[in-house]
Amino acid sequence: MESRVQHTAEHAFIGALQKLLDRTMQVRKVEHSKDGNTAFIVIPQLDIDTVVKAEKMVNSLISEGRAVKTKSFPSLEDAKKEIPGLRANEARISGEVRVVEIENHDVAACAMEHAGNLSECGFFLVTRLSKKGNEYEVDFVVGQQAKEIAVAISAKLLKVCEELGANLNTVENTAKKVKSDGQNNLKKLKALSKEKLAGILPQTRGQLTVFKGSFSNLADEQLMEFAGEKITSAKTVVVLSNAGPDSAYLTFARSNDLDLDCNKIFREVAGPDGRGGGKPHFVTGIIDKDKAAAIIDKIADTVLSHG
Ligand SMILES: [Zn+2]
Repeated sequence: MESRVQHTAEHAFIGALQKLLDRTMQVRKVEHSKDGNTAFIVIPQLDIDTVVKAEKMVNSLISEGRAVKTKSFPSLEDAKKEIPGLRANEARISGEVRVVEIENHDVAACAMEHAGNLSECGFFLVTRLSKKGNEYEVDFVVGQQAKEIAVAISAKLLKVCEELGANLNTVENTAKKVKSDGQNNLKKLKALSKEKLAGILPQTRGQLTVFKGSFSNLADEQLMEFAGEKITSAKTVVVLSNAGPDSAYLTFARSNDLDLDCNKIFREVAGPDGRGGGKPHFVTGIIDKDKAAAIIDKIADTVLSHG
């Protein structure tokens, strides 16, 4: 596609980052497609606030209508002699070198085509910042596409505000609060689940001990943790279910000194009312919540009949 304008905006953006961070940026590559553009920047740290400052700088340069000039040098070495700290994708440049200058803003060696003036970019918008390995990916759009996406993003944000019962001023804090409330509630639920599971009275037959229980609205992770702890004791089996709104979660586990195939027993007992599996000594699955108690009882009976 014709990416002259998008590409020129990228020069302005990288130049803005260089000014803000006071370092020469290393751009590994830039991809252009009809859906947008991505710059792959090799840098240890890049945050949203810096990117937004650079974005603002680019848009004011666009409004000012900064000229874009090109100059040729016989080689990259010659260009670097005249312009110390020149940014260049050296792997791609050989022989004669074109140096592109955005008037009083940025200079870079580049073989691609450029707009004659930054005003051709119209509007510059960053749509994503993410870290992958040792580099950051910055998605951006330009011109009419940027205007349309800006409207779409603001619509999305307004809907998020509506969903959270927040406004543009409070939405960040509201989102943080929702997140921390969720984490705190989970912590409480786990503590309560632990208490409830600790109240199970084990059944014994000979040397065999079976912890059995059908619960609802506990934290699934806690069932797994409980089972993991109990089966470190000799000749111990744990079979638990935990009903949620639609189905029940099942954990079925045994200590290593028992010769029971939990997978096989689970499949035979639950049949079409269960799915899941795991290792011969530790199974997790989803079962029909109305049949959960019956399935748990039957598994426990099967285990006890082996003992
Ligand atoms: Zn270029």
